[in-house]
Amino acid sequence: MKSQYVIAANWKMNMTLEECEEFLDKFKNLLLDIPESKVIFCPPFSALFTMNVLLEGTSYVLGAQNVYWEDKGAFTGEVSAEMLISCNVSHVIIGHSERRQLFGETNETVNKRTMKALSSGLTPIMCIGETIEQRNNDETLAILREQLMVGLNEINSENINKMIFAYEPVWAIGTGERAEPNQIAEAHHAIRNVLTDAGATDAASIPILYGGSVNGNNVKELLKIKEVNGYLIGGASLDAKEFVSIIHQTENHIKE
Ligand code: PEP
Repeated sequence: MKSQYVIAANWKMNMTLEECEEFLDKFKNLLLDIPESKVIFCPPFSALFTMNVLLEGTSYVLGAQNVYWEDKGAFTGEVSAEMLISCNVSHVIIGHSERRQLFGETNETVNKRTMKALSSGLTPIMCIGETIEQRNNDETLAILREQLMVGLNEINSENINKMIFAYEPVWAIGTGERAEPNQIAEAHHAIRNVLTDAGATDAASIPILYGGSVNGNNVKELLKIKEVNGYLIGGASLDAKEFVSIIHQTENHIKE
């Protein structure tokens, strides 16, 4: 069987509990059967418990936006894998560019968080991507390689095979400026090669998502890029109608 498209909603620091409830009411009313898509909601930590209750009985799964590498203790503001699992979280975004740029995360901390997620049974969604300066200097593929090789340091092939990756050019996140199909295809192809170099035995079946200003108007074009196995969506995932439109277009494309 072909694997499902992964459509992950990164809600960032948005959505109160009331807003989560309103969103899911609308979302569940609009969405029909979606056998080809795996939908992952990544709300802020404060909404995980409630979202788990709201998602009960659905096929949508819950993701978090980060995880710390220690089990417990004096780490103010961090969250442990065990805490996430107690909210029924199965996936976790690691190394989002906002974490790297605004909160000092490095490839090394991404590696530590990823190892902890894997050893706890969480599926990491590791984000990588170049800045506009790096792209203009022709450094994109070297940056992606470095982010992956350091981020995956000492992670064995069995675990790499279980992960999800998201290519998110920093200049395309939240800017309305989507990367061009040839840029996306080139980056995804390079990422798959690096995954093999890093030890993945089945890189062809590892989901590599694209993220960066995906919306209901441009998703059709993205669906034509065969290297893309899904999306990580910020802004457009906050609007139930638009998010549903993205999922429906994906389902229809696959069925065509
Ligand atoms: C993101 O936050 O990962 C993202 C891709 O945001 P946006 O869709 O708003 O560009």
